Amino acid sequence: MVQADDSSLDPHELRAVQLVARRALDRASGWGVYPTPIGDVLTAANIKVATASIFDPRRIMEFLIGKAESTAVAIRSAISKMFGVADTLDNTIHIDHTVRESKQNFLKLHEAGHLELPAHRKIFRIFQDCEKMLDPDISDLFEREANNFARYVMFQGDGYRDMAADHELSIRTPMKLAGKFGASIYASCREFARTNHRACAVYVLEPITYHPETGARAEVRRIEVSPSFGQRFGRPADTVITRMHSLGRVLPIGRKMSRATPISMTDLNGQAHECLAEAFDTTFNVLILVYPKKALTPSVFA
Ligand SMILES: [Zn+2]
Repeated sequence: MVQADDSSLDPHELRAVQLVARRALDRASGWGVYPTPIGDVLTAANIKVATASIFDPRRIMEFLIGKAESTAVAIRSAISKMFGVADTLDNTIHIDHTVRESKQNFLKLHEAGHLELPAHRKIFRIFQDCEKMLDPDISDLFEREANNFARYVMFQGDGYRDMAADHELSIRTPMKLAGKFGASIYASCREFARTNHRACAVYVLEPITYHPETGARAEVRRIEVSPSFGQRFGRPADTVITRMHSLGRVLPIGRKMSRATPISMTDLNGQAHECLAEAFDTTFNVLILVYPKKALTPSVFA
């Protein structure tokens, strides 16, 4: 299923988040340090990471002692579907230690965002003290803000974008930069498309499944486009990639990667462009990078 947008913010909301994230990196002297020194960012912000995971069922009851009843209920339900919790009372974050390290890194920064963004701190404290349930709209905005905090710190503002610009337009670039920054390949590929000055799109697919009649298929989880790709091609609305889809041939079946394969994509003016598509299977997701073979000449509508 295509996932809800998890990161769009209004420009003024985004600027406010980036300012706080910038300060967090400043305090840790984290700029230009690779991989991004998340431990230093947390230490400089006086945030502790709980050593014993709250996600360990034996620890949950212990953690809930002394919490208000509604908080306990909210935490228990959150734990069933989340991998991180921020506790404003003792400035501690709890991370599910069983998820892979690159994801833990992002989770730590996401939870740190909840503790660092003043509005979150204030509301979370009220939420804990006055037993008020958090309004779903506010909680959704907070999630998007915390994701942008994490993204800004992890990719060091425009640092990732500028580094990617010096590398070839290939799926190998975000794979390599993921290791450089300490991010997951998934997060790196998303950042690669969103910030690229060239036209490109990244399809994030769920693992490939096999249907008895139609064969291999993969549901679209989300699609990220670069600004110039979006301007020329719009945002693709595909929900599933089957063998019949133009990207079907690129699905890496029985292998980790698919090399650059020519496909045709039609832009918003109805003009066909020869594009290349390459894929990588992370085992958690299949990532496909698509880009026009020749650099785009400015469209009359650009
Ligand atoms: Zn959150």
